[in-house]
Amino acid sequence: MNAPLRHCFVIALLGVLAACAGVPAVARAKSGCELFVLGIAQDGGLPHFGCERPCCVEARRSGRVLYPASLGVCDRDAGKLLLIEATPRVEEQVARLHRLAGIRGRGRDPIDALLVTHAHIGHYLGLAWFGREVASTRRVPVFCSPRFAAFLRQHGPWRQLVELDQIAPQPFEPGVAFSPWPGLSVTAVPVPHRDEFSDTMAYRLTGRERTVLFVPDVDAWEREPGLLARLLDGVDVAYLDGTFYDGSELPDRNLAEIRHPLMTRTMALLAEVARARPGALRFVHLNHTNPALHDAALRRDIEARGFRIAEPGESIRL
Ligand SMILES: [Zn+2]
Ligand SMILES: [Zn+2]
Repeated sequence: MNAPLRHCFVIALLGVLAACAGVPAVARAKSGCELFVLGIAQDGGLPHFGCERPCCVEARRSGRVLYPASLGVCDRDAGKLLLIEATPRVEEQVARLHRLAGIRGRGRDPIDALLVTHAHIGHYLGLAWFGREVASTRRVPVFCSPRFAAFLRQHGPWRQLVELDQIAPQPFEPGVAFSPWPGLSVTAVPVPHRDEFSDTMAYRLTGRERTVLFVPDVDAWEREPGLLARLLDGVDVAYLDGTFYDGSELPDRNLAEIRHPLMTRTMALLAEVARARPGALRFVHLNHTNPALHDAALRRDIEARGFRIAEPGESIRL
Protein backbone atom coordinates (compact mmCIF):
# COMPACT_ATOMS: atom_id res chain seq x y z
CA MET A 1 0.00 0.00 0.00
CA ASN A 2 1.53 3.37 -0.91
CA ALA A 3 1.69 6.15 1.68
CA PRO A 4 -1.31 8.36 0.74
CA LEU A 5 -3.54 5.33 0.25
CA ARG A 6 -2.48 3.94 3.57
CA HIS A 7 -3.18 7.30 5.19
CA CYS A 8 -6.71 7.36 3.76
CA PHE A 9 -7.21 3.78 4.92
CA VAL A 10 -6.29 4.64 8.51
CA ILE A 11 -8.48 7.75 8.56
CA ALA A 12 -11.38 5.69 7.24
CA LEU A 13 -10.88 3.06 9.95
CA LEU A 14 -10.70 5.70 12.67
CA GLY A 15 -13.99 7.01 11.41
CA VAL A 16 -15.72 3.66 11.40
CA LEU A 17 -14.47 2.07 14.61
CA ALA A 18 -17.13 3.17 17.08
CA ALA A 19 -16.25 6.06 19.34
CA CYS A 20 -18.25 5.07 22.40
CA ALA A 21 -16.38 2.11 23.75
CA GLY A 22 -13.03 2.62 25.41
CA VAL A 23 -11.98 -0.54 27.23
CA PRO A 24 -15.17 -2.22 28.45
CA ALA A 25 -15.60 -2.92 32.12
CA VAL A 26 -14.85 -6.42 33.34
CA ALA A 27 -17.31 -6.16 36.24
CA ARG A 28 -19.84 -8.98 36.31
CA ALA A 29 -23.25 -7.87 35.09
CA LYS A 30 -26.53 -8.78 36.79
CA SER A 31 -28.64 -8.10 33.73
CA GLY A 32 -28.26 -7.55 30.02
CA CYS A 33 -26.02 -9.27 27.52
CA GLU A 34 -22.40 -10.19 28.22
CA LEU A 35 -19.79 -11.74 25.96
CA PHE A 36 -17.01 -13.97 27.33
CA VAL A 37 -13.75 -15.20 25.82
CA LEU A 38 -13.65 -18.99 26.22
CA GLY A 39 -10.43 -19.71 24.33
CA ILE A 40 -7.67 -17.84 22.51
CA ALA A 41 -5.50 -20.47 20.78
CA GLN A 42 -5.35 -21.76 17.21
CA ASP A 43 -7.27 -24.97 16.38
CA GLY A 44 -4.80 -27.32 18.08
CA GLY A 45 -4.59 -25.36 21.35
CA LEU A 46 -1.60 -25.40 23.69
CA PRO A 47 0.11 -27.78 24.25
CA HIS A 48 -0.16 -28.87 20.63
CA PHE A 49 -0.41 -32.52 19.58
CA GLY A 50 2.85 -33.55 17.92
CA CYS A 51 4.88 -30.53 19.04
CA GLU A 52 8.06 -31.17 21.02
CA ARG A 53 9.46 -27.69 20.71
CA PRO A 54 10.08 -25.64 23.88
CA CYS A 55 6.65 -23.89 23.60
CA CYS A 56 4.77 -27.14 24.18
CA VAL A 57 7.35 -29.04 26.25
CA GLU A 58 7.21 -26.17 28.77
CA ALA A 59 3.38 -26.07 28.68
CA ARG A 60 3.22 -29.81 29.41
CA ARG A 61 5.70 -29.41 32.24
CA SER A 62 3.88 -26.49 33.88
CA GLY A 63 0.33 -27.65 33.15
CA ARG A 64 -0.45 -24.53 31.09
CA VAL A 65 -3.41 -25.21 28.79
CA LEU A 66 -4.97 -22.86 26.23
CA TYR A 67 -8.17 -23.88 24.46
CA PRO A 68 -8.96 -23.03 20.81
CA ALA A 69 -10.58 -19.66 20.05
CA SER A 70 -14.20 -19.48 21.16
CA LEU A 71 -16.63 -16.93 22.59
CA GLY A 72 -19.83 -17.25 24.61
CA VAL A 73 -22.72 -14.84 25.07
CA CYS A 74 -25.06 -14.83 28.07
CA ASP A 75 -28.24 -12.75 27.85
CA ARG A 76 -29.52 -12.61 31.43
CA ASP A 77 -32.75 -10.83 30.43
CA ALA A 78 -33.64 -13.48 27.85
CA GLY A 79 -32.12 -16.34 29.90
CA LYS A 80 -30.16 -17.50 26.83
CA LEU A 81 -26.66 -18.78 26.10
CA LEU A 82 -24.91 -18.62 22.72
CA LEU A 83 -21.68 -20.49 22.01
CA ILE A 84 -19.47 -19.29 19.16
CA GLU A 85 -17.40 -22.20 17.76
CA ALA A 86 -17.68 -25.82 18.91
CA THR A 87 -14.02 -26.67 19.47
CA PRO A 88 -12.56 -30.05 20.46
CA ARG A 89 -12.51 -28.62 24.03
CA VAL A 90 -16.25 -27.84 24.01
CA GLU A 91 -16.91 -29.53 27.37
CA GLU A 92 -14.40 -27.39 29.25
CA GLN A 93 -15.39 -24.25 27.37
CA VAL A 94 -19.13 -24.57 27.97
CA ALA A 95 -18.36 -25.31 31.64
CA ARG A 96 -16.27 -22.12 31.63
CA LEU A 97 -19.20 -20.21 30.09
CA HIS A 98 -21.61 -21.56 32.73
CA ARG A 99 -19.18 -20.63 35.50
CA LEU A 100 -18.51 -17.11 34.16
CA ALA A 101 -22.21 -16.47 33.53
CA GLY A 102 -23.27 -18.00 36.86
CA ILE A 103 -25.56 -20.50 35.10
CA ARG A 104 -26.33 -23.95 36.52
CA GLY A 105 -28.67 -26.85 35.91
CA ARG A 106 -28.65 -26.89 32.09
CA GLY A 107 -28.38 -30.69 31.73
CA ARG A 108 -28.93 -31.82 28.13
CA ASP A 109 -29.51 -28.21 27.03
CA PRO A 110 -26.07 -26.76 27.81
CA ILE A 111 -26.50 -23.89 25.30
CA ASP A 112 -29.44 -22.33 23.43
CA ALA A 113 -27.69 -21.67 20.13
CA LEU A 114 -24.37 -22.24 18.37
CA LEU A 115 -22.61 -20.10 15.80
CA VAL A 116 -19.79 -21.61 13.71
CA THR A 117 -17.32 -19.75 11.46
CA HIS A 118 -16.08 -22.62 9.25
CA ALA A 119 -15.36 -26.34 8.94
CA HIS A 120 -11.77 -26.52 10.19
CA ILE A 121 -11.18 -28.84 13.10
CA GLY A 122 -10.71 -26.31 15.89
CA HIS A 123 -13.98 -24.60 15.04
CA TYR A 124 -16.56 -27.36 14.70
CA LEU A 125 -15.30 -30.83 15.78
CA GLY A 126 -16.93 -30.20 19.18
CA LEU A 127 -20.26 -30.83 17.47
CA ALA A 128 -19.49 -34.53 17.99
CA TRP A 129 -20.12 -33.99 21.73
CA PHE A 130 -23.72 -32.96 20.92
CA GLY A 131 -24.43 -36.51 19.66
CA ARG A 132 -25.82 -39.66 21.23
CA GLU A 133 -22.49 -40.84 22.65
CA VAL A 134 -22.29 -37.75 24.85
CA ALA A 135 -24.87 -34.99 25.55
CA SER A 136 -27.56 -35.98 23.02
CA THR A 137 -28.76 -32.39 22.91
CA ARG A 138 -32.25 -31.38 21.79
CA ARG A 139 -32.50 -29.40 18.55
CA VAL A 140 -29.73 -26.89 19.27
CA PRO A 141 -29.98 -24.27 16.50
CA VAL A 142 -26.65 -24.12 14.63
CA PHE A 143 -26.39 -20.80 12.80
CA CYS A 144 -24.04 -21.21 9.86
CA SER A 145 -23.62 -20.46 6.18
CA PRO A 146 -25.79 -22.34 3.66
CA ARG A 147 -22.68 -24.24 2.48
CA PHE A 148 -21.82 -25.27 6.03
CA ALA A 149 -25.45 -26.36 6.63
CA ALA A 150 -25.33 -28.53 3.49
CA PHE A 151 -22.02 -30.03 4.67
CA LEU A 152 -23.62 -30.99 8.00
CA ARG A 153 -26.69 -32.50 6.34
CA GLN A 154 -24.74 -34.51 3.76
CA HIS A 155 -21.76 -35.97 5.62
CA GLY A 156 -21.38 -38.33 8.56
CA PRO A 157 -21.01 -38.17 11.44
CA TRP A 158 -22.67 -34.72 11.37
CA ARG A 159 -25.64 -35.94 9.34
CA GLN A 160 -26.66 -38.19 12.23
CA LEU A 161 -26.86 -35.21 14.59
CA VAL A 162 -29.31 -33.59 12.19
CA GLU A 163 -31.31 -36.79 11.61
CA LEU A 164 -31.63 -37.41 15.37
CA ASP A 165 -32.70 -33.77 15.92
CA GLN A 166 -29.77 -33.12 18.23
CA ILE A 167 -28.81 -30.07 16.20
CA ALA A 168 -30.89 -28.01 13.78
CA PRO A 169 -28.88 -26.16 11.10
CA GLN A 170 -30.21 -22.61 10.60
CA PRO A 171 -28.57 -21.26 7.45
CA PHE A 172 -28.39 -17.47 7.27
CA GLU A 173 -27.89 -15.15 4.35
CA PRO A 174 -24.36 -13.70 4.63
CA GLY A 175 -24.46 -9.93 5.07
CA VAL A 176 -28.05 -9.93 6.34
CA ALA A 177 -28.51 -9.47 10.10
CA PHE A 178 -30.35 -12.19 12.03
CA SER A 179 -31.27 -12.63 15.69
CA PRO A 180 -30.65 -15.86 17.63
CA TRP A 181 -33.15 -14.25 20.05
CA PRO A 182 -34.59 -10.73 20.37
CA GLY A 183 -32.01 -8.25 21.65
CA LEU A 184 -29.00 -9.91 20.02
CA SER A 185 -28.22 -9.27 16.36
CA VAL A 186 -25.60 -11.13 14.33
CA THR A 187 -24.26 -10.38 10.87
CA ALA A 188 -22.00 -12.85 9.06
CA VAL A 189 -19.35 -11.44 6.74
CA PRO A 190 -17.72 -13.90 4.29
CA VAL A 191 -13.92 -13.79 4.47
CA PRO A 192 -11.26 -15.43 2.27
CA HIS A 193 -9.75 -18.57 3.84
CA ARG A 194 -8.78 -22.15 2.96
CA ASP A 195 -12.34 -23.31 2.22
CA GLU A 196 -12.20 -27.08 1.56
CA PHE A 197 -15.45 -28.17 3.25
CA SER A 198 -17.26 -24.89 3.89
CA ASP A 199 -16.88 -21.19 3.31
CA THR A 200 -15.61 -19.00 6.17
CA MET A 201 -17.44 -16.26 8.05
CA ALA A 202 -16.52 -13.46 10.40
CA TYR A 203 -19.23 -12.42 12.85
CA ARG A 204 -20.38 -9.04 14.05
CA LEU A 205 -22.42 -9.39 17.26
CA THR A 206 -24.55 -6.47 18.38
CA GLY A 207 -26.35 -6.17 21.69
CA ARG A 208 -28.09 -3.13 23.11
CA GLU A 209 -24.81 -1.39 23.98
CA ARG A 210 -21.94 -2.61 21.81
CA THR A 211 -20.84 -4.37 18.66
CA VAL A 212 -18.06 -6.98 18.80
CA LEU A 213 -16.27 -8.42 15.77
CA PHE A 214 -14.93 -12.01 15.73
CA VAL A 215 -12.64 -12.96 12.86
CA PRO A 216 -10.42 -15.82 14.07
CA ASP A 217 -9.37 -17.18 10.68
CA VAL A 218 -8.78 -15.14 7.53
CA ASP A 219 -6.28 -14.87 4.71
CA ALA A 220 -4.07 -11.78 4.38
CA TRP A 221 -6.12 -8.55 4.49
CA GLU A 222 -4.74 -7.56 1.09
CA ARG A 223 -6.52 -10.55 -0.50
CA GLU A 224 -9.77 -8.57 -0.41
CA PRO A 225 -9.32 -4.79 -0.63
CA GLY A 226 -11.58 -2.93 1.77
CA LEU A 227 -12.39 -6.04 3.84
CA LEU A 228 -10.72 -4.87 7.06
CA ALA A 229 -12.48 -1.49 6.96
CA ARG A 230 -15.84 -3.17 6.28
CA LEU A 231 -15.35 -5.62 9.12
CA LEU A 232 -14.43 -2.87 11.59
CA ASP A 233 -17.20 -0.48 10.58
CA GLY A 234 -19.07 0.53 13.77
CA VAL A 235 -17.25 -2.06 15.92
CA ASP A 236 -16.42 -1.35 19.58
CA VAL A 237 -14.12 -4.32 20.18
CA ALA A 238 -12.56 -6.56 17.53
CA TYR A 239 -11.13 -10.05 18.05
CA LEU A 240 -8.72 -10.50 15.15
CA ASP A 241 -6.76 -13.42 13.66
CA GLY A 242 -3.46 -13.50 15.55
CA THR A 243 -2.31 -16.94 14.39
CA PHE A 244 1.28 -15.95 13.61
CA TYR A 245 3.33 -13.05 14.95
CA ASP A 246 5.84 -12.35 12.18
CA GLY A 247 6.34 -15.71 10.53
CA SER A 248 9.74 -16.31 12.15
CA GLU A 249 8.10 -18.83 14.49
CA LEU A 250 7.84 -21.17 11.49
CA PRO A 251 11.42 -21.36 10.23
CA ASP A 252 10.64 -24.23 7.85
CA ARG A 253 7.85 -22.42 6.06
CA ASN A 254 8.15 -19.96 3.22
CA LEU A 255 6.52 -16.68 4.35
CA ALA A 256 4.56 -16.57 1.11
CA GLU A 257 2.86 -19.85 2.08
CA ILE A 258 1.47 -18.39 5.31
CA ARG A 259 -1.94 -17.14 4.31
CA HIS A 260 -2.97 -15.59 7.63
CA PRO A 261 -2.32 -11.87 8.15
CA LEU A 262 0.77 -11.66 10.37
CA MET A 263 0.21 -9.78 13.64
CA THR A 264 3.03 -7.40 12.71
CA ARG A 265 1.19 -6.53 9.47
CA THR A 266 -2.17 -6.07 11.21
CA MET A 267 -0.53 -3.85 13.85
CA ALA A 268 1.10 -1.73 11.13
CA LEU A 269 -2.20 -1.31 9.28
CA LEU A 270 -4.14 -0.44 12.44
CA ALA A 271 -1.46 1.43 14.41
CA GLU A 272 -3.39 4.70 14.59
CA VAL A 273 -6.67 2.99 15.46
CA ALA A 274 -4.97 1.18 18.35
CA ARG A 275 -3.41 4.41 19.61
CA ALA A 276 -6.76 6.21 19.48
CA ARG A 277 -8.72 3.33 21.10
CA PRO A 278 -6.36 1.28 23.24
CA GLY A 279 -7.74 -2.14 24.02
CA ALA A 280 -10.31 -2.15 21.21
CA LEU A 281 -8.22 -4.43 18.96
CA ARG A 282 -7.44 -7.84 20.46
CA PHE A 283 -5.74 -10.88 18.97
CA VAL A 284 -7.15 -14.43 19.22
CA HIS A 285 -6.45 -17.78 17.52
CA LEU A 286 -2.74 -17.67 18.41
CA ASN A 287 -0.67 -20.62 17.20
CA HIS A 288 1.19 -22.58 19.89
CA THR A 289 4.45 -21.23 18.45
CA ASN A 290 3.37 -17.55 18.52
CA PRO A 291 5.95 -15.69 20.66
CA ALA A 292 3.21 -13.38 21.97
CA LEU A 293 2.05 -16.38 24.06
CA HIS A 294 5.47 -16.97 25.57
CA ASP A 295 7.47 -13.72 25.66
CA ALA A 296 6.35 -11.25 28.36
CA ALA A 297 8.45 -8.40 26.96
CA LEU A 298 6.93 -8.80 23.51
CA ARG A 299 3.47 -8.81 25.03
CA ARG A 300 4.19 -5.57 26.90
CA ASP A 301 5.37 -4.03 23.62
CA ILE A 302 2.13 -5.10 21.88
CA GLU A 303 0.10 -3.57 24.71
CA ALA A 304 2.15 -0.36 24.67
CA ARG A 305 1.06 0.03 21.05
CA GLY A 306 -2.61 -0.15 22.13
CA PHE A 307 -3.28 -3.77 21.08
CA ARG A 308 -4.15 -6.68 23.38
CA ILE A 309 -3.84 -10.44 23.40
CA ALA A 310 -7.31 -11.68 24.36
CA GLU A 311 -7.43 -13.27 27.84
CA PRO A 312 -9.42 -16.41 28.58
CA GLY A 313 -12.34 -15.39 30.78
CA GLU A 314 -12.40 -11.69 29.85
CA SER A 315 -15.85 -10.21 29.27
CA ILE A 316 -17.55 -7.36 27.44
CA ARG A 317 -21.05 -6.02 27.95
CA LEU A 318 -22.75 -6.27 24.60
ZN1 LIG B 1 -8.63 -21.99 12.92
ZN1 LIG C 1 -9.38 -22.28 9.47
